[in-house]
Amino acid sequence: MAVVKRTSSNSELSTALENFYGAAEEMGLSEGLIEILSRSERMLCVSIPIEMDDGSIKVFEGFRVQHSSAIGPAKGGIRFDHEVCLDECEALGIAMTWKCALAGIPYGGGKGGVCVDVTKISKKEKEKISRTFAARIEPIVGAWTDVPAPDMNTDGQVMVWFTDTISKMRNRLEPAIFTGKPPLFWGSLGRNEATGLGVATCAIELLKVEGIDPKGATVAVQGFGNVGSFTAKFMAEAGAKVVAVSDLSGSYFNPAGIDIKAAFDHISNPANKKLLTGFAGAEFKEGGDAVIFADCDILMPCAGGSQITGKNADKIKAKYIVEGANYPTTPDGDAILKSKGIIAIPDFLANSGGVIGSYFEWCQDLSGYFWSKEEYNERLVKIMSNNFRDVWAYAKEKNVVMRRAAFMKAIQRVADRVEMRGVFM
Ligand code: GLU
Repeated sequence: MAVVKRTSSNSELSTALENFYGAAEEMGLSEGLIEILSRSERMLCVSIPIEMDDGSIKVFEGFRVQHSSAIGPAKGGIRFDHEVCLDECEALGIAMTWKCALAGIPYGGGKGGVCVDVTKISKKEKEKISRTFAARIEPIVGAWTDVPAPDMNTDGQVMVWFTDTISKMRNRLEPAIFTGKPPLFWGSLGRNEATGLGVATCAIELLKVEGIDPKGATVAVQGFGNVGSFTAKFMAEAGAKVVAVSDLSGSYFNPAGIDIKAAFDHISNPANKKLLTGFAGAEFKEGGDAVIFADCDILMPCAGGSQITGKNADKIKAKYIVEGANYPTTPDGDAILKSKGIIAIPDFLANSGGVIGSYFEWCQDLSGYFWSKEEYNERLVKIMSNNFRDVWAYAKEKNVVMRRAAFMKAIQRVADRVEMRGVFM
């Protein structure tokens, strides 16, 4: 009996499935394992009724998907975004399974989100959405079942609202259910910068194996949120020249190198609403995607999904792509990168610093013993560098591109656990 392949009209889920089936086929994975791993264990849809500031009632939709718990508790972020839907959450949950397996941390994969335009809600409304969502997903989350974290438009404060709501419902403090909390409340020093530090570490390792000195290497970073801004900062600290950055307000170019500290100061000014609008240290170009075509060594997409596609990949000038965002490249875009000889470091390897950092936080919360930032960063860089080199060596050994090598390694690790644990009943 041949495997009936799942398909989806959602771009990210379609990419997730296509990448999985392609790697599974190349590995010769059994049909039973393909059937199991191509589906999610549990998907929860919730409604979130909120009394808005003007007294009206609005109902938002929320989701939590647990793709796999073969290795350990489901792990993955919760995003607040107007494009959130069940398929997107499933795609991102699948990516988390491979990300955690490849990272070598004891988790499965999950993801969740609320469909909401965050630019249209107040802080009070955001708190109500967070707390009601936490209460709705309470039956399926826990330190040993499913451990959410921040993602697009959610942060430490949202994690505190989640933790506080569930702790009060259960009448006991539950700090290890959510990671990405602020250091002030059971969070970990280093977690806020962790994803960016990991992306930059991967890029620097890549330059090293390619024999390029990071000092003077040129990079372009798409997105200046948590991931993009810290990626740019750590690349600049390593001596690289950040020649272009972007965000929702547009793209900003400076061939002499953008002053990243000045860009941080700009977005920190409350008047600029966390955006680069009006940033003086660079030449402005309309559209956040202009940065994709920047003249540079490394392009680092750190914003939304499906940015590098069959329609634009041939115009990319960079020699390397290091993916900070989840699913920034579609399979047809990827095929063009491959044909042009552009080396792409896949999202679930390059951006795994965030979840590795979450793992550190979870360990600290469970033991009630907290590490210094130096210890946290040192361990993170070591794990990221080792993981990069492992996948690099495996890609050479199997004569496949980095994305395929990373998938094969990760899928095998999950498949081994499924086989060892057995199919239930
Ligand atoms: N949202 C981040 C990611 O996509 C972090 C997930 C986590 O820490 O659980 O990797």
